[in-house]
Amino acid sequence: MEAVFSPPCPYYKKCGGCQLQKLPYEEQLRRKNGRCIALLGEFCHVEPILGMEEPFRYRNKVHAAFALDNRRRPTCGIYQPGSHAIVPVEDCLIEDAACDAVIRTIRDMLPAFKIKVFDERSGSGWLRHVLVRRGFATGEILVVLVAVSPIFQLQKPFVKALTEKHPEIRSVVLNLNDRFGPVVLGTREKVLYGPGFIEDVLCSHRFRISPRSFYQINPVQTEKLYRCAVDLAGLTGKETVLDAYCGIGTIGITASDQAKQIIGVELNRDAVRDAIGNAKLNGLKNCWFTAGDAGEYMEQTARSGLRPEVVFLDPPRSGSDERFLRSLLKCAPERVVYVSCDPATLARDLKILTAGGYRAEKIQPVDMFPWTEHVESVVRLIRQ
Ligand code: SAH
Repeated sequence: MEAVFSPPCPYYKKCGGCQLQKLPYEEQLRRKNGRCIALLGEFCHVEPILGMEEPFRYRNKVHAAFALDNRRRPTCGIYQPGSHAIVPVEDCLIEDAACDAVIRTIRDMLPAFKIKVFDERSGSGWLRHVLVRRGFATGEILVVLVAVSPIFQLQKPFVKALTEKHPEIRSVVLNLNDRFGPVVLGTREKVLYGPGFIEDVLCSHRFRISPRSFYQINPVQTEKLYRCAVDLAGLTGKETVLDAYCGIGTIGITASDQAKQIIGVELNRDAVRDAIGNAKLNGLKNCWFTAGDAGEYMEQTARSGLRPEVVFLDPPRSGSDERFLRSLLKCAPERVVYVSCDPATLARDLKILTAGGYRAEKIQPVDMFPWTEHVESVVRLIRQ
């Protein structure tokens, strides 16, 4: 008989963030492996998933929504799935403890600094969300206050009190979001304290991270993921490498000492600015970054006759698109390393690449999101 396993988190039933809490960690890994084999097994053998030794407190980015509860008292926590009700999570087993502590401090400071939380029903109040990111290697903390207006009367004393309580805070940024809808961050920002970003170290390189740039949320597993991706690229030092959907340039920069040059393309301009800064921060002269749609860039590359020998692609959950994949086939790089956070869209895209003359040689799942059902995988494809 199987032993009964109790979910370790008291918020499990209400929160819904960790769909696999009913399963012991080993069982979660088996289940993720099974899902990868079912979706990707037709392309090649799937390696056993790389799990975490300590699958807790891995999230370096914490988001808390602020609102009024049923009795119109300010509260903060996680949105219940499919609703606007907030589960007042004080301390989450997968989130970094220091990030959670900063959010609790901010919550407790609200009355003294006359900060009203935004109320969607009446449209009154000011603070909507708080986002906290922490560099695991550096300990630096970035706090983003998301509010509906730039007017923050007690800004100076608030920032002073907050940074005194948490000296690891390197930057505090005010982000304006006055639109309804699910998007947390608006497009306008004001730096209230520090340089407006933090730095972290991954795979022996230093990275600066701005509020709106993508950065992998599980640094322990990201190192395994990137090392695996770079290994699978089989670089010799002579290649021109395209890092598509490059974010702040982390994969390309990690591979840069094993390639002739790296060209990164990314849609988010803040992330591109970070990527350019990151090449400089690491003293790299062989990394170039450009802002734009990866599909459009790939099409131009195919037209120009430039032929990268290796292409990394790491698209969002929705996967890549036909425009990118068709132009990739035209460019015909010798090796493609596809990093994916959704095996279903990965399978869809692999169909196009394998029909177009590539063969999947290795598939390595990595558990970036323990206790949730999400699975990350890396695939090495070789041109036939
Ligand atoms: N490789 C990076 C980022 C991966 S996340 C890392 O490991 O950190 C996916 C990235 O794709 C995000 O930074 C997102 O802004 C970017 N993106 C989304 N759609 C895009 C598109 N059409 N063209 C280029 N980049 C895109």
